[in-house]
Amino acid sequence: RPVTRFAPSPTGFLHIGGARTALFNWLFAKKHGGTMLLRIEDTDRARSTDEATAAILDGLSWLELGWEGDPVSQYERAARHREVAEELLASGAAYRCYATPDELAEMREKAKAEKRPPRYDGRWRDRDPSEAPEGRPFAIRLKAPQEGETIVRDKVQGDVRFPNKDLDDFIILRSDGNPTYMLAVVVDDHDMGVTHIVRGDDHLTNAARQSLIYQAMEWDVPVMAHIPLIHGPDGAKLSKRHGALGVEAYRAMGYLPQALRNYLVRLGWSHGDDEMMSLDQMIEWFALEDINKGAARFDFKKLEALNGQYMRATDSDELTGALLRTLPHLPGGPELAERLDEQKTGQLRAAMPGLKERAKTLVELVDAAEFIVAKRPLPLDEKADQLLDDMARNLLSDLQPKLEAVNDWNASTLEQAVRGFAEENEVKLGKVAQPLRAALTGRAVSPGVFDVMLVLGQEETLARLSDQTG
Ligand code: GLU
Repeated sequence: RPVTRFAPSPTGFLHIGGARTALFNWLFAKKHGGTMLLRIEDTDRARSTDEATAAILDGLSWLELGWEGDPVSQYERAARHREVAEELLASGAAYRCYATPDELAEMREKAKAEKRPPRYDGRWRDRDPSEAPEGRPFAIRLKAPQEGETIVRDKVQGDVRFPNKDLDDFIILRSDGNPTYMLAVVVDDHDMGVTHIVRGDDHLTNAARQSLIYQAMEWDVPVMAHIPLIHGPDGAKLSKRHGALGVEAYRAMGYLPQALRNYLVRLGWSHGDDEMMSLDQMIEWFALEDINKGAARFDFKKLEALNGQYMRATDSDELTGALLRTLPHLPGGPELAERLDEQKTGQLRAAMPGLKERAKTLVELVDAAEFIVAKRPLPLDEKADQLLDDMARNLLSDLQPKLEAVNDWNASTLEQAVRGFAEENEVKLGKVAQPLRAALTGRAVSPGVFDVMLVLGQEETLARLSDQTG
């Protein structure tokens, strides 16, 4: 049973790339009856915050990507990391390095002058520690092989070869006693029983160095899958404008978690031409081998279209529930929530089949629901105002008694009344329906006008009409 993990650094929100990494890990674990663990990589004390950790957990929960057990704090495991560093020292796979900061700076300068990547020159690799000046602090470095190559056998990238001469004797324990990221990740993944590492391909070189630690400890190297990063629609690195935002920003833009999940899974992975897929289908179809090698492109337009599809496909009561739950996060949502008493909530529910046909996001639903909670007399937008010219108002005033006379206020009696009225007056239905819509919603665009009348009920419909006909 595979064990995967998601290992975010809590230095900011759960960004969209992280969410996709978590999703891939989660899907892979689910598919094979395994579990996903969560590790908070909080060793950078200056940049890690509790708020960021909370935002990450919240984002994962919103996307319904559950992890097993309590999140593991990497920082809290520092003693164990030190223990492994000592073990490597004792076995001769690592050594103490007494190079001073000045010496290291000199090595960097030299590399710069020679236009090559900086590299530790191994000056303490074979020296006896007794040669070190009394009391001088030391770091612990891995005694990395100097010849041959290290191969990362990657499920996405294939075999990636790193000449060992390029992987220097990197530090595993700093002179202040703190483990490096390189060591901490390996020890944690091993101790947590992680069998599969799925993460961004910006970690590919780290994977080579980490493999050396596994080998030195004689631990099994987990299966690796390094997934290409997400780029903007123009192919450049994802910018804020192009979607490099936290998951909560997507919630605030009114996307449904299931739609975002569906959009994310197809960023870099696909199953034929299938666009919309259920969670069960994703789990069934997902395979690491099918992840693309090339960077995926993030496209707001496609996300929006997919979200619209999801909204239409969602049961109206369910969608109403989702909207009500999400109101605190949506622009204008709290204000709407305040004005939704029991009766108006019922009207919102009744209007949903019509509303959802026209909205691509929950934010658009909030806007479209405005007519339900609007206070009389309704403010008219510019187009509604134009529609309600004198002729139209006269027409509406003649329509009023017909609507008053409707006994059973339902879709067909309403349609009959309004159609009959248009015929009698020898005008097209639109000539009546448009000003009617304007009077009832204050806008030129809304769900079907009969739906609107049905939702508002007879009394409110007539009241809004008389507001405009005086
Ligand atoms: N904490 C790392 C990051 O957020 C991930 C490390 C890993 O997955 O091994 O990029």
